[in-house]
Amino acid sequence: MATNRDVFAMLSELITLTTLEEESPQSFKVRAYENAKLGLEAHGEDVTGLTVTELTKIKGVGKATASKIRELVDGGTVEKVEKLRAKYPPEFVELSRIPGIGPKTLKLIRSELGVENVEQLRQAITDEKLRDLPGLGETSEAKIAKAIDRLGLTGKDRRTPIADAMPLAERLVADFAAIKGVVDVIYCGSLRRMSETIGDIDITVASKKPAAVMKAAVDHTECVDVVVNGETKTSFLTREGLQIDVRVVEPDQFGAATMYFTGSKAHNIALRQRALDRNMLLNEYGLIDISDETLEGDDRPVVASKTEAEIYAALDMAYVEPPLREGQGEVEAAVVTGAAATGKKKPAKKAPAKKASAKKASAKKKSKSSEEEVEPTGLPELIQREHIHADLHYHTARSGDGRSSVEDMVKVAAETGYDFLAITDHGVDLAINGSTAEEMLEHRDHIARVQEEYPDVLLMWGCELNIDGKGGLDYDDDFRALFDYTVASVHSHYDQKPTAQTDRLIAAISDPTVNSIGHLSGRYIGRRPGIEFDVDAVLDALLHFDVALEVNGALQRLDAASDVVRRAVDREVKLVINTDSHHTSELGRMEYGVRTAQRGWAPKDLVVNSWDRDRFLAWVAERPSRT
Ligand SMILES: [Zn+2]
Ligand SMILES: [Zn+2]
Repeated sequence: MATNRDVFAMLSELITLTTLEEESPQSFKVRAYENAKLGLEAHGEDVTGLTVTELTKIKGVGKATASKIRELVDGGTVEKVEKLRAKYPPEFVELSRIPGIGPKTLKLIRSELGVENVEQLRQAITDEKLRDLPGLGETSEAKIAKAIDRLGLTGKDRRTPIADAMPLAERLVADFAAIKGVVDVIYCGSLRRMSETIGDIDITVASKKPAAVMKAAVDHTECVDVVVNGETKTSFLTREGLQIDVRVVEPDQFGAATMYFTGSKAHNIALRQRALDRNMLLNEYGLIDISDETLEGDDRPVVASKTEAEIYAALDMAYVEPPLREGQGEVEAAVVTGAAATGKKKPAKKAPAKKASAKKASAKKKSKSSEEEVEPTGLPELIQREHIHADLHYHTARSGDGRSSVEDMVKVAAETGYDFLAITDHGVDLAINGSTAEEMLEHRDHIARVQEEYPDVLLMWGCELNIDGKGGLDYDDDFRALFDYTVASVHSHYDQKPTAQTDRLIAAISDPTVNSIGHLSGRYIGRRPGIEFDVDAVLDALLHFDVALEVNGALQRLDAASDVVRRAVDREVKLVINTDSHHTSELGRMEYGVRTAQRGWAPKDLVVNSWDRDRFLAWVAERPSRT
């Protein structure tokens, strides 16, 4: 039975394939499917039970799309999609991800040069054949070659962008969780650690009835090719060639298994060594006491295995959040300094004084925590989703690309429990998506009216300013100063020299009307590289002018990247974690933003949208004097 998620997946695929077929993302058919998808998104409810007539009553859904949805729900496949799939195999579709190659060019490359996949495209570039095609030239050829390198599209090591992998993994987890007898299920591997690109998806299922799970795996709509089909492990490939490994483990061993399959390798090696030092063995089945040499195999006592937290605790460590498990000092830092040696032979090592900010954060925690709380470690008091009570990069239909009204956007923010909100629609310079000064003033009144209905959420009238090629910003200085809060971001001029990019960012940061910098590099993971600039110089400027660095939670962005976040944290640059929502369905991105910040070791105290409202407003009010 197809689910609502399957319906969205089908429509997305239909949009991609029809764009190739019609040679334009603007074609009537493509736009019809896009409108249907937006309509269904806005509708928000499960549509798998609706008839064609009922479906067409949803805004944007035409009869042709409605029939395809019914066809999918009733029979599991859609004839039109199958036909297009035959014409455009996945390795050909993949070529459409390369910046600089539109659908028209793609068709030309295929018909003139017989290119069907990335390897062949590379060869055509090596043979200097691309430059002779109409509309292309040496410059485009070189650009495309560079783009292929950056995307990492070739060879066995090819990676899938997290924005493609995460929705699929979440969908698989939901589907396996619904199987009778399944106690728990999560995705592990690099995806759980919030890597930006992943090799394959690892799903670990806790159940005493593995056969049902194995059957569901091979029967899954995403499964096109079964690689392994065992009693407790099934591996299959999706149409895009992504490998999914599904493993079923005993519910009692779930913690040990998820820890093992989450990795990283370096983290696991360090944990195993720590276990051995204390006469224990750590593997995918549990943490086992091996101090009594007369015992063998299953006779040896299991110290912990059911949850990861129990295993860390038994190793005298604080729980290590998955995004931190990269073997970059987290094992040493997580050691509980004050812990009694709990009968183990070796006393706990002292936590290294890794970072100034980390030390400070944990010292603070110590002073306010009660005795039964976690013992101090070298880990920072890491930012968590529940600490966040504001979104400070948030669009409404005022933006050309905003898809929900002010009323609807505020309603979902209030329901999420936010305490304050900065509505930051695009400034005038962002062509069709921006608003004139006059429109912005009307918008301010609109927000003020909506504010009356939500006394508990402070609505700030903000703006997403556009940083132009030289670092200039929208409107004039006086007008910009009117906004309650601003985020300034790069949306163009990606190809300038690094020195020019650095200057441009620093110019924006130094402007007294700027409170934060949005999606720092402007990258789209796996699709468009970010701008190149001097990271240290920009972080120093952020610190100097006390401007917050955004961690954007959109999966295609995750920008600033976690390694940049960690460098910012070392300097104690303030951070802000945002969703950059353009629709009411996008608030879930906050979770991804938080996990990216965790991957950068971000302590709660540096994140301005974890602060209480008064502290936050005092910080914003100080801004104009920081020059
Ligand atoms: Zn936008
Ligand atoms: Zn935005």
